[in-house]
Amino acid sequence: MSRLIRALIMGPPGSGKGTMSSRIVKEFKLNHLSSGDLLRSQIQRQTAVGVLAKQYIDKGSLVPDDVMVKLITHELNGLPPNWLLDGFPRTVSQADSLSKNQTLDAVLNLDVPFDVIVQRLEWRWIHPGSDRVYNLDWNPPKVPFKDDVTGEDLIQRDDDKPETVRARLEAYEQLTKPVLEFYRSKGILTEFHGTETNQIWPHVNDFLSDLLQHPSKQSIE
Ligand code: ATP
Ligand code: MG
Repeated sequence: MSRLIRALIMGPPGSGKGTMSSRIVKEFKLNHLSSGDLLRSQIQRQTAVGVLAKQYIDKGSLVPDDVMVKLITHELNGLPPNWLLDGFPRTVSQADSLSKNQTLDAVLNLDVPFDVIVQRLEWRWIHPGSDRVYNLDWNPPKVPFKDDVTGEDLIQRDDDKPETVRARLEAYEQLTKPVLEFYRSKGILTEFHGTETNQIWPHVNDFLSDLLQHPSKQSIE
């Protein structure tokens, strides 16, 4: 028997949410909705939302709540109730709006130490055409600064440059940490501690497998 789950994945910028999300959606056949990917696609297509969002993202600030809520609500409404949401909500106001529209079965938090994160973001390089992600330390391209598949140049995301990384981490501390409290107080938050996806993954896998077998243990309206 398979059931449908609606889950959130949280964690500081660069905590490996994207990598972990790919594993989760593959293993548990969930739809993946990443607010960062959605915004980057809007920017690439130069939509009104994209043009507005870019001004905030490049500074390392959060995109305004009303823009985010509209964008995500619209996308979620188009999906069957079987998804993993990544990167939203990032403020308590976003979390409040989400709880008015959707029921949640689980909130997973990747608790990765800050020093690990800073290094990781500065060493992350991407292939702009495909969004393939490399890390100069543990997942380097075969040829330095070139994409493995196309051989094209890799670039650093503007918001992965050191000054912007600091601003993103501050926004996380100030605005997103309270969202963890919000879900903790509802009894729906599960924390995973570690420094690498490979190390954390088995625990996430066990947790979600268990949740799929015992659906009624959690769930908030
Ligand atoms: P990673 O994906 O490596 O964990 P990240 O989570 O910081 O890094 P993204 O999720 O890709 O990065 O988001 C990139 C930027 O998009 C954020 O720094 C922020 O400016 C904007 N953004 C994404 N989601 C939201 C949101 N829910 N509310 C406001 N701004 C957002
Ligand atoms: Mg992301």
